Amino acid sequence: MTATESSEETTVDESSEAKFSLELNQDQKDIQEWVHGFAENVMRPAAHEWDEREEFPWEIVQEAAKIGLYGFEGTAQFFADPTGLSLPLVNEELFWGDAGLGMAIQGTGLAVASIFGQGTPEQMGEWVPQCYGTEDDVKIAAFCASEPDAGSDVSGVRTNAKYDEAKDEWVINGQKAWATNGGIANVHVVIASVDRELGSRGHAAFIIPPNTPGCSQGAKVKKLGIRASHTADVHLDDCRVPGNCLLGGKEKLDERLARVREGKKGKQQAAMATFEASRPIVGAQAIGIARAAYEYALQYAKDRVQFGRAIIENQAIAFTLANMALEIDAARLLVWRASWMGRNQVPFTKAEGSMSKLKAGEVATWATERAIQILGGNGYTREFPVERMHRDAKIYDIFEGTSEIQRLVISRSISGVKIK
Ligand SMILES: Cc1cc2nc3c(=O)[nH]c(=O)nc-3n(C[C@H](O)[C@H](O)[C@H](O)COP(=O)(O)OP(=O)(O)OC[C@H]3O[C@@H](n4cnc5c(N)ncnc54)[C@H](O)[C@@H]3O)c2cc1C
Repeated sequence: MTATESSEETTVDESSEAKFSLELNQDQKDIQEWVHGFAENVMRPAAHEWDEREEFPWEIVQEAAKIGLYGFEGTAQFFADPTGLSLPLVNEELFWGDAGLGMAIQGTGLAVASIFGQGTPEQMGEWVPQCYGTEDDVKIAAFCASEPDAGSDVSGVRTNAKYDEAKDEWVINGQKAWATNGGIANVHVVIASVDRELGSRGHAAFIIPPNTPGCSQGAKVKKLGIRASHTADVHLDDCRVPGNCLLGGKEKLDERLARVREGKKGKQQAAMATFEASRPIVGAQAIGIARAAYEYALQYAKDRVQFGRAIIENQAIAFTLANMALEIDAARLLVWRASWMGRNQVPFTKAEGSMSKLKAGEVATWATERAIQILGGNGYTREFPVERMHRDAKIYDIFEGTSEIQRLVISRSISGVKIK
């Protein structure tokens, strides 16, 4: 069955655009093979070097842009897949290639997801291409929600945006923390409070156009893993942006704020809307890392001889590899389900997006650690890639909602109880 054919076996909402299928169609297989080739031939040979350099790998992103893998059109094509599976397929293959380089290529996606999720069609048309630039002049974008005192608790956002009616401009002040591509991005999407009394319901998302005075990079963060990806603080000092840089527009914001002030339910908060849509994609990235470590450990276990036999002949090793294969496939099924649901607007009734990211992140952290164990002393050295994969994997328990926060979201969702 292809992704678009119907079947009596499918159990999903009849009105949905594309039926769920585990069999990839030819387009998806082609995309998968194409990205795999780039990951194998361009990313893998460069991975160690860029991890050691801890710099943004513009050359690699440029290579990706040249073949259409990085850019507006490529992203639009992956996003257009009605099954929702192309984006996780692309991400799994890229991160199988290398997570630091993968994040350099995919980091722009979070800002783009925010513009797609909350922007008007005009804003999408104006800003999304500027997030990517062109194949000859590559650009990147940053999504800035976190702050020194607002990580898991986004309601703590202190960055504020005030409307200057006379000039039809927003004036933004604050400090953002941990922003992927922060300060080196062409376009920054910033979450700011327009009414602190309303907590996260008083948040809105703003575009900071290229070279806007008052927007600057703070300290660059030195990290355990994904070291080719740039992470930094972003300072916003009397940063003035045109009125039409408010994503979704002022009329919509005013309506939403009025509803919230009247005690009615506001629509989804600005940062949350972005994270909800992107969680399965982030999960797919974690699966790519886990699969890379599993494949490496499997081959190593077949080659390495101790006590006169390949170490895989010992159940302790073979069962570990069996569990790795099992867990990776289980995580991928959750990711594909959530991606399909998200793309087809099937409501997440059990926080399926969070489930997918939680499972994939924990599988990646666990599987890469087990891979080090299977490689023994070699696994612990920088001569072999699994230690890098383990360092890279750990971030998937932390960013875009920590594992604890995902469990909070899931437990609230299944119980209806405000679990703390
Ligand atoms: C490499 C990297 C890249 C990042 N990129 C971006 C980006 O591009 N844009 C962006 O906006 N942010 C980004 N972040 C920020 C990231 O999303 C936050 O680090 C993350 O949300 C956790 O926030 P925190 O670090 O403040 O931890 P805290 O919120 O301080 O949490 C500390 C610990 O307490 C636990 N905890 C907190 N509250 C609860 C609770 N209610 N119940 C149980 N446990 C709880 C957490 O799970 C965690 O274990 C990035 C971070 C890193 C490290």
